[in-house]
Amino acid sequence: MVVLEEENKLAERDRALEEIAARLGVRAERGRRFAELTSLRVGGAIDWVIAPDTEEQAAAIVHELDRAGIGWRPLGSGSNVLADDGDHHYVVLNLSNMKGEVRIDGELVSVCAGYSLPRLCIDVARGGLSGIEGLGGIPGTVGGALWMNAGAYGHEIGTVTENVRVARDGKVVEIPGESIQWNYRHTSFKEGELLLGATLRLKPDEPELIKVRMDDAKSRRLATQPHGSRSAGCFFKNPPASSVGTGKMIDNMGMKGQRRGSAVVSPVHANFIVTEGENARAEDALALAEEIRERVRREQGIELEYEVELWRAKPSTDDTEKSSEESVDELERKES
Ligand SMILES: Cc1cc2nc3c(=O)[nH]c(=O)nc-3n(C[C@H](O)[C@H](O)[C@H](O)COP(=O)(O)OP(=O)(O)OC[C@H]3O[C@@H](n4cnc5c(N)ncnc54)[C@H](O)[C@@H]3O)c2cc1C
Repeated sequence: MVVLEEENKLAERDRALEEIAARLGVRAERGRRFAELTSLRVGGAIDWVIAPDTEEQAAAIVHELDRAGIGWRPLGSGSNVLADDGDHHYVVLNLSNMKGEVRIDGELVSVCAGYSLPRLCIDVARGGLSGIEGLGGIPGTVGGALWMNAGAYGHEIGTVTENVRVARDGKVVEIPGESIQWNYRHTSFKEGELLLGATLRLKPDEPELIKVRMDDAKSRRLATQPHGSRSAGCFFKNPPASSVGTGKMIDNMGMKGQRRGSAVVSPVHANFIVTEGENARAEDALALAEEIRERVRREQGIELEYEVELWRAKPSTDDTEKSSEESVDELERKES
């Protein structure tokens, strides 16, 4: 009976969603999986994936979804997300098509949220603008980088962000960068806030010099991190009170190469969990991550915090799915 009610609700939601997508002329797809949309290549089925092309379209879409009470989450390149293996009964707003064009006006650079961050770093370096060359090796979109305040090799996106365009009441609204708290891999943006684009303020410099610094950051990355593997970058944040980075800490415990089914602690960088095989499971990566946290807690007295975002499927009456959700619930409880 409960299952039938749930099915009816979903069917009603599907009709509303198809109507909204058709009215706004936005592509809406079924049958996609997180395993196709995230860099870890794991994660279950998604009810709907909507891919807007423009900032205006994206703002209108989320407004309509909110009004209709339909749950949604924004996704860029999925390079910092670990979605569990359950069926995710919400809409994923895939922003990687919303690329637009980079507009450069003196030191100001305006870019859409779906634009590739590595691509942007190359564009501005060629245009003789400095300030983000350390970020050149970070996969993902500008929107994902803003959300997480992505950073590497002395640069963080938040420090050069003049303003951010967000979706409010169906419109594109600009908010000043200084009104946002840019912390270590965390910002004050609230759940449900859609970032549409940003204007960065960079500094003029010789393109050749910027390129040298960008190449240097890239080669340091290549020397210390796995490449060509399926990962989400660093799995855990570095603990603020520790002088030893998380990677070194895990390495010191001899956990490089440790495996749980399809998930392995990278032999190159111990803070990277990589997945292997056609049918890799999020469950394996989560179990391995928890094993690491448990040992660090026991042996170092430190509570590691996830840098990767854990996305869980909505509650369901299905037993199998429920148990996989409970394990993520448990993770979130431990995390806090
Ligand atoms: C090999 C590798 C190396 C990495 N190295 C680094 C590094 O050095 N430094 C670093 O900081 N990160 C690093 N990362 C992590 C990741 O690349 C960054 O966090 C990146 O900025 C995420 O961008 P994305 O588009 O993939 O975001 P996603 O993974 O798609 O999303 C991440 C979060 O941002 C939210 N989000 C995405 N777009 C929007 C939007 N438009 N509006 C609102 N919310 C949005 C999502 O909902 C999610 O909560 C690495 C990842 C990999 C795979």
